Amino acid sequence: MQLKNKTALVTGSTSGIGLGIARAFAREGANVILNGFGDAAEIESLRAGIERDSGVEARYDGADMSKPDAIEAMMKKAIAEFGSVDVLVNNAGIQHVAPVEEFPLAKWDAIIAINLSSAFHTIREAWPAMKAHGFGRIINVASAHALVASPYKSAYVAAKHGVAGLTKAVALEGAEHGITANAICPGYVLTPLVEKQIPDTAKARGITEAQVIRDVLLAAQPTRQFVTVDQVAALAVYLAGDAAASTTGTIIPVDGGWTAH
Ligand code: NAD
Repeated sequence: MQLKNKTALVTGSTSGIGLGIARAFAREGANVILNGFGDAAEIESLRAGIERDSGVEARYDGADMSKPDAIEAMMKKAIAEFGSVDVLVNNAGIQHVAPVEEFPLAKWDAIIAINLSSAFHTIREAWPAMKAHGFGRIINVASAHALVASPYKSAYVAAKHGVAGLTKAVALEGAEHGITANAICPGYVLTPLVEKQIPDTAKARGITEAQVIRDVLLAAQPTRQFVTVDQVAALAVYLAGDAAASTTGTIIPVDGGWTAH
């Protein structure tokens, strides 16, 4: 129970990787604040399930990560209720796949806002209490696309490279205050985010969906296996704990060897 008496807020945790991280933190004793979109009854059942299974407090805040005011309100409420957000996971993210000359402006703006700027807003709100307590863990869920690019993902690759830079900058600023900042860079994990882009990638490349999985997604990963949510969550638990006190400013791939190419 290495996260007992800690409070963790995970953006975009109603699904996929974020939900897996929130559940793993709760199993380690942390109170968790879930965030993200979805059906209200389903989210309530996820929240109640975490409380029942792990005996921690689990809250939900539906703040839209594209809206700085909503992010500020979510962070202020969490800090007022729990005293601080000790572990902050910036995970909310969306994707859009299209050639650069056809890339919709609204999608570019949304991806930069949700995948990059939201992390700046949560960090600046969490910072004073982390500094006052001499403890903070910032974990940014970036992507292998924080290190390498793929065609047709201009906004996503730009945002994720930005997250890597933000991680390093705040790691330096937090170093003397017990605040670490690290980025986890998953390869392909079979979550709704990836499932949704398979048809668009097929269209952009003029190939079938089965070919996208075999020749585009898993072709990039020497293991030829999807990364699992549990593998990413296990690294997040490590980074949140005391053993990771000297691990800061790192950009860690969990990508089946993709970025070793
Ligand atoms: P997902 O679609 O399963 O989950 C995304 C979460 O973000 C959901 O809870 C969704 O409701 C939430 N979200 C989306 N827009 C939001 C908004 N405006 N405000 C608040 N919440 C919002 O996706 P996932 O695959 O679990 O992705 C999580 C993170 O992992 C993303 O940052 C993604 O870029 C990153 N990632 C995913 C993969 C992968 O292969 N799945 C690989 C590398 C990185």
